[in-house]
Amino acid sequence: MKEQITPYLRTLIEKGSIPLRAQFKKKRQPKKESNFTNDPLGEEEKYSPVKGLVHKFGNRALWKVSYRCAAHCQFCTRFRQIGSDEGDLSSEDIQACIEYIRTHPEIDDVILSGGDPLFTVRDTLTIFEELAKIDSVKVIRIGTRLPIHSPKSFHAKLLKELMRKMRLYARKKALFVLININHPDELTKSVLRAIATIQKTGAIILSQTVFLKGVNDNVETLEALFTTLYHNKILPYYIYRCDYVKGVEHFIVPFRKERMIMTELRKCLSGIAYPTYAIDVPGGRGKIPPPLHFWKGTVFRYVTDFDGNKLKI
Ligand code: SF4
Repeated sequence: MKEQITPYLRTLIEKGSIPLRAQFKKKRQPKKESNFTNDPLGEEEKYSPVKGLVHKFGNRALWKVSYRCAAHCQFCTRFRQIGSDEGDLSSEDIQACIEYIRTHPEIDDVILSGGDPLFTVRDTLTIFEELAKIDSVKVIRIGTRLPIHSPKSFHAKLLKELMRKMRLYARKKALFVLININHPDELTKSVLRAIATIQKTGAIILSQTVFLKGVNDNVETLEALFTTLYHNKILPYYIYRCDYVKGVEHFIVPFRKERMIMTELRKCLSGIAYPTYAIDVPGGRGKIPPPLHFWKGTVFRYVTDFDGNKLKI
């Protein structure tokens, strides 16, 4: 994945934000071979019935709108794809995804992801309008980092049009916007203003965070992050262990350290401000919450996924 940074992020990095530099500036990789893989979650290999769609859990489908984002986060799970045009969907591809969802009424929850659906807003508008017509779809979720990458984009005409459509949709059905936020430095005034624009649509705003070595692997940073999110009506939803993706090895925090941090945070944060800590098990299925240090005698080398498979972590 190439380095790509928006002018807005570049200014913050030049002003001295080390956590932002670490997330977006490319780092030279060690030559040492690791056992990390390109697609540890098996998205394409096992669970993609049509181009663009991942159907891994019965009632939920993940729709990868493209592989394009305003900036490239160097810890990205889709490190192998981001920035390439391989994920661009033709109108036939979009119709094939719609048809799949329409003919699988067990899917009531569609997650628009990517790439960043708010960066490729023209396609997202089409997809959103089509999904809104399907009765069996009760929930739409949009995963984005655009408010963090480029808050000014929310003044653009097409995004305003999407916000208008979202407002109409949110009056009838459930609409969630999931924003990846990893460090308090990301929550500038302009970012909070952009998020407030989304809040005005009636969508419920949730945050997702990834544990990143050298960025947020300490109690103070995460306490400040989750408290600020809570104060701004953004619910901390998940904090993930970074996926074991080739190219992101330098971001992995020791597992024991993560559990200690989450144990300490549990003592000082309100339950509403405390996200679910989970591991997307490589080679397995499901986001599994690890036990914290309140529990004694747990063996942490193996985990059982949603299908009962015992896997080494
Ligand atoms: S915005 Fe999301 S999909 Fe795009 S590079 Fe960042 S983490 Fe990956």
